[in-house]
Amino acid sequence: RREGELVLKNQIDIQLSTNRKEKPSFSNLKFGKTYTDHMFIMDYSREKGWYDPRIVPYQPITLDPAATIFHYGQTIFEGLKAYLSENEEVFLFRPDENIKRLNRSSVRMCIPEVDEELALEALKKLVAIDRDWVPNMEGMSLYIRPFIISTEPNLDVTPSQNYRFMIIMSPVGSFYKEGMDPVKIAVESDYVRAVRGGTGNAKTAGNYAGAMLVQEKASASGYSQVLWLDGNEKKYIEEVGSMNVFFKINGEVVTPELSGSILEGITRKSVIELLKYWGVPVSERRISIDELHEAYQKGQLEEAFGSGTAAVISPIGELFWNNEKMLINDGKTGDLSLKVYKTLTGIQTDKEEDPFGWRV
Ligand code: PMP
Repeated sequence: RREGELVLKNQIDIQLSTNRKEKPSFSNLKFGKTYTDHMFIMDYSREKGWYDPRIVPYQPITLDPAATIFHYGQTIFEGLKAYLSENEEVFLFRPDENIKRLNRSSVRMCIPEVDEELALEALKKLVAIDRDWVPNMEGMSLYIRPFIISTEPNLDVTPSQNYRFMIIMSPVGSFYKEGMDPVKIAVESDYVRAVRGGTGNAKTAGNYAGAMLVQEKASASGYSQVLWLDGNEKKYIEEVGSMNVFFKINGEVVTPELSGSILEGITRKSVIELLKYWGVPVSERRISIDELHEAYQKGQLEEAFGSGTAAVISPIGELFWNNEKMLINDGKTGDLSLKVYKTLTGIQTDKEEDPFGWRV
């Protein structure tokens, strides 16, 4: 922590918008197309450290065309949501975990870390100011996108001297059009998302840009996401689209262990903690596509689902691999998937007790 940072801490300057936008109809929103009235900004320079935290009206920003973000992609982001309860209270779900992961991603991408307390304060203040934007409809929420970009104009391939941390927010419905209906997933055997030692466990733009071609290919064949295999041997299961993945095999829930190339999902962590709390056997271990196929053939692959902030739980009804369609639980949502979904969304929206203290 640099000198001066403590003095600035928690002194977030607020400039309210005098020109509030008209709220859209929340019932037919496209994911990530509409933004709220305000945003948070904080800048960084080598001399000053992080400085000038402020909430300002939502507006475009100006950057030099030589800013390193445009050329070498030194950037990271986060994603979390604010939920409205039936009592019209607004809750965040484990925001401290997102801030910790933001800093872990930053370390990997040579970006200076932010003060965790200040970042949490910024999140809470921004949500409080735009709280009218948290949709009051079932299944909807306010998606929050903190991110950091490198802003120094410099084409030399070295870490930027300047950065900007911003938080923007968007009211959203369900991320996937299928909602809790099971999705069809294609196992990807050619392309990989990440390799051990690479950047897969950082939430950084390049991981997502590199996945788009593959995603397009899968969509064109009628699949909603791909199941990624490990980048080193193309043997072990890693993630599904931009979600972590769980399988219920013969009564035990299995999720790939964190290998360095998998994003450490906060929903993943919560699902594991919840299953343990319920006494459901759960293990984090390497699981190969061959093992999964074998379990399927023996009739032991009972359920499969993806986990992530956007969809919370997304059941998998069909897995396509090696010219074979594996139908899971008759293509229907499994009981455990549904129970996990109901409990997590219940905790998020204050409908269920929260024995873990996840609601903030
Ligand atoms: N994997 C990837 C690649 C992701 O982008 C995400 C979304 N952040 C996840 C998994 C799920 O993480 P979380 O549960 O924290 O949303």
